[in-house]
Amino acid sequence: MTTFADLGLSQKVLSAVTDAGYTTPTPIQLGAIPHALQRRDICGIAQTGTGKTASFVLPMLTLLEKGRARARMPRTLILEPTRELAAQVAENFEKYGKNHKLNVALLIGGVSFEEQNRKLERGADVLICTPGRLLDHCERGKLLMTGVEILVIDEADRMLDMGFIPDIERIAKMIPFTRQTLFFSATMPPEIQKLADRFLQNPERVEVSLPSSTATTVTQRLVAAHNKDYEKRATLRDLIKEQEDLKNAIIFCNRKKDVADLFRSLERHGFSVGALHGDMDQRSRTTMLQSFRDGEIQLLVASDVAARGLDLPDVGHVFNFDVPIHAEDYVHRIGRTGRAGRSGKAFTLVTRSDAKYLDAIEKLIDKTIEWLRGDLSELPAPMESHDSDRGRKGRGQAKDRSRDKDRGRGKRSESAPKPEQAAEIETAEEVAVEASQEQNGPERRNERRSQPTARASRPNPANDDSRDRRSRHRRDHDDGPTPIGFGDDIPAFMLIVANAGKA
Ligand code: AMP
Repeated sequence: MTTFADLGLSQKVLSAVTDAGYTTPTPIQLGAIPHALQRRDICGIAQTGTGKTASFVLPMLTLLEKGRARARMPRTLILEPTRELAAQVAENFEKYGKNHKLNVALLIGGVSFEEQNRKLERGADVLICTPGRLLDHCERGKLLMTGVEILVIDEADRMLDMGFIPDIERIAKMIPFTRQTLFFSATMPPEIQKLADRFLQNPERVEVSLPSSTATTVTQRLVAAHNKDYEKRATLRDLIKEQEDLKNAIIFCNRKKDVADLFRSLERHGFSVGALHGDMDQRSRTTMLQSFRDGEIQLLVASDVAARGLDLPDVGHVFNFDVPIHAEDYVHRIGRTGRAGRSGKAFTLVTRSDAKYLDAIEKLIDKTIEWLRGDLSELPAPMESHDSDRGRKGRGQAKDRSRDKDRGRGKRSESAPKPEQAAEIETAEEVAVEASQEQNGPERRNERRSQPTARASRPNPANDDSRDRRSRHRRDHDDGPTPIGFGDDIPAFMLIVANAGKA
């Protein structure tokens, strides 16, 4: 069995890896590290959660042991699509680089230029940036990129989604041709392949296949649930209360609106809960995630898109409030528990309309998931539910297209969402727009938004969705059915108080 010591890493790095408690390199680390140490370009196809970050951080640390930084001339540059990912990479440098005396500068929006300038003045061995902030520094004449020996482009497919490719091309032109480039992407659609061909020279291709199996240490159960949201929420609450060993849990919803609704409902019922969805700004998401990691909140309600790319901690329980429409998402969700041989539990609420998605999941993982008690046949026949109608009305056409675009790139199951089911599912683009606004810092962000957003010091996911805000007064008692008639789609003009104009 290959160990870290066989990969050619320096003693300082090996000692930090041992301290981190890692014994065996992951497949992406096995594939990438030896080639990176030989100064080869790498084209890595791997997702977050595969140990991808260490696969570039560990060889970089080893290579950086020779030479030292000069003021304003960084030696290496890592580009990340979001502040949050950039901050996670910086944390990795701290952890694995604890035996090195390297200057690491994190250039992301939301932090003052002055503070970042001071770091650059001292000379940075490693620069970790989001593209917008890096270009801002370059435009201010504060950075010289001619000393960069290693360029890392991480999460290239997300960069593409977020419209950062022109920025990356500009940045790459500033860096000497002789550099080493390490390029990572979770998927390799043709447009990303073209990029890789442009940025890389004779790269070593390392591919980590998408997981299609769930850990044997995870107990998976299905729970029959009614179609109506309020009944489903009651089923979930009962299920949570039944778990005697519940330490912490992630609850996944397919739609970001359901994330906000479920969060509010659980909070009202006295659960210790937080939420992650794409309408939250980066700062709120990071703070929320940290509270969950620190055990300040026990339950975290999340959508797949908001959870993707985040280094979520290992959890004891996963609850699927909705059956995921894409079977691979099931594997990713379940993968949040039962890591490293630990035991975990995963419960999926299934309604009558979920049958074909469940089939696709069982086909992908090649096993039949047991029902906790009873099955769908014990539920009364579904009534035409206005809850499920809600997503079909009006909204979502554009989102469907972008979702399809997003989904089309990866390897996906046969059960692609029908337009009405895809309506309101959170899209990567929606997250991207928010993140790119964040990314461009307060100055540019305010140019784009006609009204600056107020920021609460403690994130409140329920406050982030303006649609939710509009309807919140009607949904304060959301444990009962929503009003029949217009339901949640009451036109705005009908909400205007009749005598408002007379005052
Ligand atoms: P990443 O894909 O870089 O986000 O890493 C996912 C998680 O795996 C992080 O929490 C890392 O600390 C952890 N990790 C990375 N490499 C290893 C390894 N060789 N053994 C065990 N855990 C690891």
